[in-house]
Amino acid sequence: MSEQTTSFINEVNRRRTFAIISHPDAGKTTLTEKFLLYGGAIRLAGSVKSRRSQKHAVSDWMEIEKQRGISVTSSVLQFDYSGYCINILDTPGHQDFSEDTYRTLMAADSAVMVIDCAKGVEDQTKKLFHVCKMRGIPIFTFINKMDRMGKDPFELMEEVESVLGIRSYPVNWPIGAGRDFKGVYNRQKKQIELFKDSNHGQSQGNVISGDINDPKFNELLGETLHSQLLSDIELLDMAGDEFDMEKILSGELTPTFFGSALTNFGVEPFLESFLEMTTPPTPRQSSNGLIDPKTDNFTGFIFKIQANMDPTHRDRIAFLRICSGKFEKGMSVNHVQVNKKVRLAQPQQFMAQDRVIVDEAYPGDIIGIHDPGIFRIGDTLCADNSKTKYEGIPLFAPEHFAKIFAKNSLKRKQFQKGITQLAEEGSIQVFKRPNIGIEELIVGVVGSLQFEVLEYRLKNEYGVDVIMERTPYRYIRWVEMEGFNPSKFSITMDTMIVEDEDSHPVLLFQNEWSINMVKERNETAVLKEISFRK
Ligand code: GDP
Repeated sequence: MSEQTTSFINEVNRRRTFAIISHPDAGKTTLTEKFLLYGGAIRLAGSVKSRRSQKHAVSDWMEIEKQRGISVTSSVLQFDYSGYCINILDTPGHQDFSEDTYRTLMAADSAVMVIDCAKGVEDQTKKLFHVCKMRGIPIFTFINKMDRMGKDPFELMEEVESVLGIRSYPVNWPIGAGRDFKGVYNRQKKQIELFKDSNHGQSQGNVISGDINDPKFNELLGETLHSQLLSDIELLDMAGDEFDMEKILSGELTPTFFGSALTNFGVEPFLESFLEMTTPPTPRQSSNGLIDPKTDNFTGFIFKIQANMDPTHRDRIAFLRICSGKFEKGMSVNHVQVNKKVRLAQPQQFMAQDRVIVDEAYPGDIIGIHDPGIFRIGDTLCADNSKTKYEGIPLFAPEHFAKIFAKNSLKRKQFQKGITQLAEEGSIQVFKRPNIGIEELIVGVVGSLQFEVLEYRLKNEYGVDVIMERTPYRYIRWVEMEGFNPSKFSITMDTMIVEDEDSHPVLLFQNEWSINMVKERNETAVLKEISFRK
């Protein structure tokens, strides 16, 4: 094997590309910050503040978008830790929760699920979890905020199982909780790890470790905590699930860790075990079968397109996940969907807090490429002529729908152009009512902030003022049915039949009751929550 090849394989093997999924406020930002701290990418925790300012009203979003750097930078963070090259994909939450949040998960090889120990499994975590589950990627659980009183750890494990349908394997187990959270028992190393001061989370902190039966712990923990721990561990060993790497890698068993991101307790042991257990980039399904990341042929797919809000620069950045082969700056590749060559001249990468031009990159990495308006979400780039195409990126269910018209009907053309381009970028989905012209469109979005962004961008970039009327629809289902005929299809009074951009029939519902009724009345129809673009 040539030296070049060995170093290429090493580069692939040391990549870990993952997303952190959580409900807002569970501690995703804090945990990310601590990872960067351990990676040496920032010296004192607290520097990822710019990300925090993303929780804000639409006006701030515009400001931030104008400044570009910040929001683009926070889309992906790359840093080294203990020989690994880590890519953390940001999954926007809060108000800017959007289809992008879901799509980002298509580019991840695994996910870290952060759960607030007092709140348990919350709504947004559930939604994001389902996408990870659909992909069958490994999911690791970090139960956070153990420095505060929360639910009982056994209760949390049960909740994860009953709400998400995944079983847990606690890799470590908390010793005490709240103010008495002293550390964890590491079930793999079979040792107690007690945490010492971390300067309120600003530095890494020390650990005192040793065998569970070491008498010093009886003293350090006190009789009550120590015997509680012994009986918890006995129960886990007897009644809990066994450690099963295969099940972990296929997303059927989630290794679970307890800690406190704020005080750094348990963060480093978590990071270490997670990096060891999770996978480097794995083969991906394509039109030419499974593609091994270690093949020479460079391939990748676009999972996100971000528009430039600066009106003097109408270009966009397409985010490409590299799936195989080595990327080199300036290389020419085939844009498979349109059958054209493109040269990747100024690719960007996102190192900790900076954006830099990248000379080379490897499977697992994300690069930002200049998009003069030629790419669509899900497009594949491929260096050789094999025309390899990755499975497309699904359309995820919007949850908010509005009717939209141009205020001034003379601006119809610009209106259409704007809507088409924004739909291409994937920030909205557009629906038509059969037999009604494009004067009345229905747009669907995953997060309602997207409506405001849509209105703002149509005005600023396309010069069109619009009127939007929110509708009461909250659920969407794509209809799969032989010989679908809207006039013969039986729906409830409060349901609407529309078509998506590929003229595929779609139902909009106001409540789950109607979904069930429609299913009952149309037994041969399959109703899907996720669809693929043609
Ligand atoms: P995100 O919305 O998931 O990114 O959450 P943040 O990381 O911004 O955290 C939300 C709030 O919880 C902030 O005030 C954090 O300081 C706090 N927080 C995060 N982790 C912990 C923790 O381990 N313990 C405690 N007590 N607070 C935490």
